[in-house]
Amino acid sequence: MHKSPISSILAISLLLSVFCLKAPAQNASLTAIRCGRLINPMDGSVIQNAVIIVNGERIEQVGAGLAIPAGARVIDLSGYTVLPGLIDCHTHVMLQPEDERGAPPVITKSQAFRTVQGVAAAKRDLEAGFTTMRDLDSEGAGFADVALRDGINQGIVPGPRLLVSTYALTITGGHMNNAGLNPDIQVPEPAALTDSRDAMIAEIRRQVKYGADWIKLYATGTLRHVDPVTLEPLGQVSVDEVRAVVEEAKRWRRDVAAHAYGGDGAKNAIRGGARSIEHGMLMDDEAIKLLVERGVFWCPTLSVYIPETREDDTDMRRRIVVRHREVFQKAMKAGVKIVFGTDVGAFEHGTSAREFYKMVEYGMKPLDALRAATTTTSQLLRMEKQIGTIERGKLADIIAVEGNPLEDIHALGKVAFVMKAGQVYKASK
Ligand SMILES: [Zn+2]
Repeated sequence: MHKSPISSILAISLLLSVFCLKAPAQNASLTAIRCGRLINPMDGSVIQNAVIIVNGERIEQVGAGLAIPAGARVIDLSGYTVLPGLIDCHTHVMLQPEDERGAPPVITKSQAFRTVQGVAAAKRDLEAGFTTMRDLDSEGAGFADVALRDGINQGIVPGPRLLVSTYALTITGGHMNNAGLNPDIQVPEPAALTDSRDAMIAEIRRQVKYGADWIKLYATGTLRHVDPVTLEPLGQVSVDEVRAVVEEAKRWRRDVAAHAYGGDGAKNAIRGGARSIEHGMLMDDEAIKLLVERGVFWCPTLSVYIPETREDDTDMRRRIVVRHREVFQKAMKAGVKIVFGTDVGAFEHGTSAREFYKMVEYGMKPLDALRAATTTTSQLLRMEKQIGTIERGKLADIIAVEGNPLEDIHALGKVAFVMKAGQVYKASK
């Protein structure tokens, strides 16, 4: 059995190629990211020329000048500022700006069509740097938010990590109950009508059964329910009802987000144990004090209330915007835990950075605005061990922007790179 030199060479090269293929394969899940500037929103520290080592979906190491492991894929973001993935804790992925004008989408669109729009919206929001979103009700698109969340988690379509609330709880005549229709016409409702404690409890069970991560409660009405003279919002729930909702949600290990403009509705929501107050632009000093005392988070959604059309630009709306700004400034001073939320869907998906601009315009430091969308929001979601900072062991949710957002907050509108759980969804050119 004599081997020819050629077959020996072939055997050696085959061995070599197996060896060579194997070496990088060991590090195939490793990615090294070179950062120009790395911001840690937790302590405000900035590291120049940091390297992040990502292993699979998690961050393995982070620091200045780390050695790049052999065989690791290298991503060069040395011309950018690198930050943890942003978190928007008030979104409506199934809602589009056109749904805010004319007849409500429950009447004009199928849930299937809204889902298709939602898929496109989720991609746009992810590409704008939002790697996690708490989606605060599908506004009549049923459980489509659950389907989209699951589709994203299974890698079928791209999008942020979603925490969804399906239908919300409201009352007959309240917010998200169709108005202005002939009472003989039966149409689908944008939220669940729950007019008693028992109805609320039963509805929470149904929503959790079909996939809700959060319970959304309409504790006050909407703009049409605000008294144009006193600016008093319509209170929709008693403190006992909120307690019952929170208790039932807790049984299923769910938290409650309360839409509440102010007045007794907001105070009842805070006293009853809601984890976050949404909007809150008409809250009084007592409500702000209660937020601080009870450690309740406040999601102001500033930008969505600024009138954009002549139709919206009413005297009442302008007064509400002034109040919103005042409450925001008082809450900042009082030490309220302010979280970033936008109500995106009421305006174009992918443009949520505008909320940062408003927060800073109203006097918040850029670093605090960044915290509101990272560390503080991760606490609200009870996910602070997973997301919110770029730290060893956390999910590799990493974005890069042009410029320095600590100097000019508008940099957050220039997202060039998005990684979610170690996977790249948008790359710089
Ligand atoms: Zn909303």
